[in-house]
Amino acid sequence: MPSTEILKEADRIMTICNACRYCEGYCAVFPAMSLRRGFVEADLTYLANLCHNCQSCYHACQYAPPHEFNVNVPRIFSELRVETYQDYAWPGPLAALFKANGLFVSLAIAFGLALVLLLTFAWQDASVIFATHSGEGAFYQVIPYEAMVWPFGLIFLFVIAAITIGVRRYWADTGGAGKEPLTRAAFYRGLRDALTLENLSGGGGGCNYPADKFSFARRWFHHLTFYGFLLCFSATSVATIYDHGLGWIAPYPLVSAPVILGTLGGIGLLAGPAGLLWLKMQADPRPQYRDILGMDVAFLILLFVTSLTGLLLMGLRETAAMGVLLAIHLGFVLALFLTLPYGKFVHGFYRLAALIQHATEQGRKTHP
Ligand code: SF4
Ligand code: SF4
Repeated sequence: MPSTEILKEADRIMTICNACRYCEGYCAVFPAMSLRRGFVEADLTYLANLCHNCQSCYHACQYAPPHEFNVNVPRIFSELRVETYQDYAWPGPLAALFKANGLFVSLAIAFGLALVLLLTFAWQDASVIFATHSGEGAFYQVIPYEAMVWPFGLIFLFVIAAITIGVRRYWADTGGAGKEPLTRAAFYRGLRDALTLENLSGGGGGCNYPADKFSFARRWFHHLTFYGFLLCFSATSVATIYDHGLGWIAPYPLVSAPVILGTLGGIGLLAGPAGLLWLKMQADPRPQYRDILGMDVAFLILLFVTSLTGLLLMGLRETAAMGVLLAIHLGFVLALFLTLPYGKFVHGFYRLAALIQHATEQGRKTHP
């Protein structure tokens, strides 16, 4: 359960905002807030996850610090979101990994790299690792197929289970679609708002991030990151179908679906995280919850480095560097997988659930 102080402060701020309502056009939070007369824990958790932390309401607010009302919506909602991730994390004891997440990610990288490199050098002769391999099955000549597929497959299933259980708990606690069944229209509306990042448009002129000037930079860099990730995931999925369904063994030609998808995704995952990090370094600290900076930065750096090592592997796969690069890339992928359910990655799923809930409420308002 979120700390009483954070809930009390969020309730206080939402009560002021509900009387003011100046920011109604900025995002989904204020229309959702205005449907309520009071705010219990479930309402505040939902509103916090609906907030995209665009910071527009902070820069527009006449009651923001140094005003005595001390209204700072993005900051209190950031604090509450982290409590949400911890509360719903599965298995429960691992929730602590959200705190000191930067350290956790660093340890996961060290562990992933050390494990894959050590196992590769322990099991494989150096003459094989540093040899040039080409043609069908070249990767598996360095790291055997089973050693690659089984550990990553099992961790991937664990990641899906952990995130699904967390989001189901959130959905049950916050009321989800209410007493009515979730409609297809609400689901698609919520999904559309998530995929377009509608709530980072600041009502049309862009949001006030990294400072008080209106800008779409965060929205575009976030799109590059998200769609880059999706393309890389698609590349892996297509490669799995090629390998298991069609018996076409990697590596694939440069002009093939997995390589084209992976290359485009990899470029997105370099440009997007780099841009978001650059914006983060310049961001106005006042509306930020600085304690989660480590979690945000660690995730962006891990995405960037995973993509960089993947692109290097693709470019140098027919050289003697392939064996070591493959082990390094897999080490980073392992670290990324291990940290997915206990870091910044989960925000997308909770936000999607909140956007679907918002679309349901808005639909109910239009068609009571
Ligand atoms: S953030 Fe400030 S200006 Fe915006 S609705 Fe709340 S009190 Fe009003
Ligand atoms: S920070 Fe942006 S998304 Fe969050 S409540 Fe304020 S205006 Fe809405």
